[in-house]
Amino acid sequence: MSTRTITILGSTGSIGCSTLDVLSQMRGDERIEVIALTGNGNIALLAAQARVTGARLVVTADDERYGELKAALADTDIAVAAGRNGLIEAAEMQSDWVMAAIVGTAGLAPTLAATKRGADIALANKECLVSAGDLFLKAMRDGGGKLIPVDSEHNAIFQVLEENQRHALERIVLTASGGPFRTWSREEMAGVTAATARAHPNWSMGLKISIDSASMFNKALEMIEARHLFNVAPEQIEVIVHPQSVIHSMVGYTDGSVLAQLGCPDMRTAIGYALSHPRRPKLSVERLDFARLARLDFEAPDEVRFPAMRLARLAMTRGGVQGAVLNAAKEVALEAFIKDRIGFLDMAEITESVMETMASTAAASSMDEVFAVDAEARRRAGEIVSRNAAAA
Ligand code: NDP
Repeated sequence: MSTRTITILGSTGSIGCSTLDVLSQMRGDERIEVIALTGNGNIALLAAQARVTGARLVVTADDERYGELKAALADTDIAVAAGRNGLIEAAEMQSDWVMAAIVGTAGLAPTLAATKRGADIALANKECLVSAGDLFLKAMRDGGGKLIPVDSEHNAIFQVLEENQRHALERIVLTASGGPFRTWSREEMAGVTAATARAHPNWSMGLKISIDSASMFNKALEMIEARHLFNVAPEQIEVIVHPQSVIHSMVGYTDGSVLAQLGCPDMRTAIGYALSHPRRPKLSVERLDFARLARLDFEAPDEVRFPAMRLARLAMTRGGVQGAVLNAAKEVALEAFIKDRIGFLDMAEITESVMETMASTAAASSMDEVFAVDAEARRRAGEIVSRNAAAA
């Protein structure tokens, strides 16, 4: 039996926990050794995961929680670290496979570190591609590892995109559930709170991605992610609202054929595929029951009620660092919405305002440039948030 070594960046999150569940289901077929785990604020869970897996290194991103994590593992020989350097140390430790599941731009530097040393990367953190697509893909090529998307839509496309039919690829169709406000008017959405926005109808996910799904910023990020991952033009990317979330995405070819990947909305299928590619693991996830399902519905997306998708098209058309600007401004606006400082619709308005004042189409030549653009977009978005809050 072969042994595979694995690191999970963001093990305490929704994707991280599902990854550990998939690993436990696969243990009968292969030996899997967990090398490093990282988390941020959930120290009790991180320590418990470290004990169960016997990880060699466990890291909290929060420097101030180091003592707590160290104390929780005092009776073990598991190494403990904290902060940005700790995350990089975890990413750089030799392992065959890395799950990149830290939320937001915080995931960029550690994922890049794992990329550079040639690890196979299962990519859940979409911000790596949205903010730094070209540089990230170059680092992947230079490192020589395999890149497998975990986002359910991109994982679906990865499963059905026939590399030997690339010349005949016509379009990529990303499906979107439409989120909890699919049928709501803008007036109704104006008053929603984070508690309502986080209640996704189909998927169980972390707080931020759930709210991004409600505003359709998640789909906006996925459009930019798809452009980089599959090297397609912006006009080849379509979005279709599909409330049941059973078709996870589709690929259309020049002969009119459309290939789709279907399944119950459960991230463990995508994670298992990313872990086992090119084979498929045996997983105990719910099976699709077509008779019970009875029907699949589709609707055109509404870019007036959900302007995030229009902003993604703008970012893709402009190119350069526009993905980084969109993502950073959106992250600041999202934080402010979660803290009840701005309204739901303000998130898109603030993001668009920042994109209008930072409309440069120049490409970044280094990650430092990406981080500088990210910081400037955050500063500008923060200013608008403060102005809005003061005026309210
Ligand atoms: P969660 O919020 O559930 O988990 C995020 C993870 O990142 C946790 O381990 C968290 O630690 C850690 N973390 C939070 N802040 C920081 C920080 N500043 N530095 C380092 N680590 C940090 O997110 P999800 O699992 O839902 O999503 C993870 C990524 O995967 C996101 O980029 C998301 O867009 C993407 N994704 C998620 C899907 C899903 O179904 N959940 C589907 C497709 C993509 P702690 O909990 O200890 O604070």
